[in-house]
Amino acid sequence: MASLAEAHGTPLYVYSGEQIDERFGLFQAAFHDRPHTVCYAVKANSSLAIMRRLAKLGAGFDIVSGGELERVRKASRAALKRVVFSGVGKQVWEIDAALDAEILLFNVESVSELELLAERAKALGKRARFALRVNPDVFAETHPYISTGLSEHKFGIDIKQARAIYKRAARLKWLDAAGVSVHIGSQIRKVDPFAAALERVTALIAELRRDGHDIRYVDAGGGLGIDYGAGEFDPAHQVEKYATALEKGLGGETAHLLLEPGRFIVAQAGALVTRVLYVKKNGAKTFVITDAAMNDLIRPSLYHAHHEIVPLKQARGVSVKVDVVGPVCESGDFFARDRELVRVKPGDLVALLDAGAYGMSLASNYNTRPRPAEVMVEGAESRLIRRRESLREMLAGEQA
Ligand SMILES: *Cc1c(COP(=O)(O)O)cnc(C)c1O
Repeated sequence: MASLAEAHGTPLYVYSGEQIDERFGLFQAAFHDRPHTVCYAVKANSSLAIMRRLAKLGAGFDIVSGGELERVRKASRAALKRVVFSGVGKQVWEIDAALDAEILLFNVESVSELELLAERAKALGKRARFALRVNPDVFAETHPYISTGLSEHKFGIDIKQARAIYKRAARLKWLDAAGVSVHIGSQIRKVDPFAAALERVTALIAELRRDGHDIRYVDAGGGLGIDYGAGEFDPAHQVEKYATALEKGLGGETAHLLLEPGRFIVAQAGALVTRVLYVKKNGAKTFVITDAAMNDLIRPSLYHAHHEIVPLKQARGVSVKVDVVGPVCESGDFFARDRELVRVKPGDLVALLDAGAYGMSLASNYNTRPRPAEVMVEGAESRLIRRRESLREMLAGEQA
């Protein structure tokens, strides 16, 4: 990592291609006995190289915008037919592009969206397969910003209203009620809420079948959490537990299962490498100022998320309690507060671990800072998969 940082500069995202493959393989293996498609949630990390890698392994994609659809097209045209389109605010151009691409499934989140979908399908002469994303009113313990399965959240349609909406949709010939979908949130560590949500969905599917709908897909969403701490983590065991919970929720239901994992596949395959610029003391506090900031990795600022921070040269010696912060002009621009860290000095390299998900995909140009470069490690090789943004590129769209 140190030599990659020398070659490409910092801050730098570094990913392990092999770990991404491995994680995808865990889902494939755990659901082997059931017809299923793993639709990687693009928003977790939308790098084209990662998407192409997953597409080659047979992945589908869960998208939330027309932009992400364009990414699928660039990464793998063949994967367009394995795309599911989620999101509460789909626009006409996005719906049209997805109809035109003949994606697998629209996960519809409101009655007005369903009406618009019917209208656009008719206008384009394309039949739209859809699933209602139901809100099962299941509590999943996670950060409130990434919990989505309660009726107080903006996501999905109240599961109690779903049957009536499917009934109405059946009268529209441009709509094909092909599935039911659910997604209760992200970074969920206990698997019971997944089982509870799916149990409700499975009961709904049984009702819908009795009503005469030809439901072929059940979409269980994503949300399986990882461990951001320093302890042992057994991903295979976690996916097995998850699969057992889903099986419990599904019971004898045989519809084609769609899964939308994002974080679990890429988070731990990525690190953000950054260089220490300064170390300074203010009162009782010691601040380690790095060249990465909240614009490069916003999770600590946005969710108070924990990332392990390790010096690349395993410096021996005393550890001190420090705040690790970036150069951005916000007190919320921190990576760690009161963290025990081996003493580092200006010029040292440190890595923020488990930064592969919701890192680069949430990066911004705040403070007019160019977004970092990304490197993929593939066996003994590595390659630049996205060059560092230049000042020129950053200002290109503007007119003074
Ligand atoms: C964000 C999201 C996912 C992925 O969630 P992870 O926690 O990254 O697995 C899957 N489905 C939908 C609808 C989402 O919004």
